[in-house]
Amino acid sequence: MIKATDIVKSFGSLEVLKGVSLDVKSRAVTTIVGPSGAGKSTLLQIIGTLSAPDSGKVYYDGDDVFAMKDRRLSRFRNESIGFVFQFHRLLPEFTLEENVALPALIAGVGRRDAFERARALITHLGLASRAGHRPSELSGGECQRAAVARALVNKPAVVFADEPSGSLDSKNRGELHRLFFDLRDELGATFVIVTHDENLAADSDYIVSLVDGRINKVTENRKSTNSI
Ligand code: ADP
Ligand code: MG
Repeated sequence: MIKATDIVKSFGSLEVLKGVSLDVKSRAVTTIVGPSGAGKSTLLQIIGTLSAPDSGKVYYDGDDVFAMKDRRLSRFRNESIGFVFQFHRLLPEFTLEENVALPALIAGVGRRDAFERARALITHLGLASRAGHRPSELSGGECQRAAVARALVNKPAVVFADEPSGSLDSKNRGELHRLFFDLRDELGATFVIVTHDENLAADSDYIVSLVDGRINKVTENRKSTNSI
């Protein structure tokens, strides 16, 4: 579904990605692991279309995304890609339900439909009783689950997450990780997740190990029954 070819990226004289090629399979959980500074976040930003490589290409279903004009790419990103970060980045002045509905409203979905989608996802994620609360009234785990709901509201082709459980305790971390697999199984969602969590990596369908700006190894864990 997503194909990255020979991605090179430098910051000044520091070459962070040294020719990375990667395929992301749909309806699967792919984790990216590796030591701090290996270039994981940089790679996620590039395959997530948030930042352009110095050279190399990123294709979504055959479309070269960095060949798109800025406005088209922004629209594509809003409609096709969800993001979850280490800190939830929910807007404090909005309720959980409003936060989740917001990307749909931005995409031009009608108010009623956007809120219906938001409520359905919030219920699916076990947060129905918290829908009217603001982020400050929710736990860290609830906020991260809400961030996942927000990432999914536009029914994206893929959700990228950069250390999404990095700020959670072990119980909430486990719950969040289960959620990724449930959403894969129930909605056919596709996740690409940078993580330091060995359990999450071990459970994922594909593990991409990045060391010093290069792919060291790709491990396939996929059960054939799930593949499409
Ligand atoms: P990881 O997520 O694997 O820890 P990153 O992709 O965040 O690694 O960073 C890889 C290297 O690139 C690090 O040395 C980091 O300091 C550097 N780096 C990342 N982003 C920038 C930036 N915007 N400007 C300069 N250096 C950066
Ligand atoms: Mg990082």
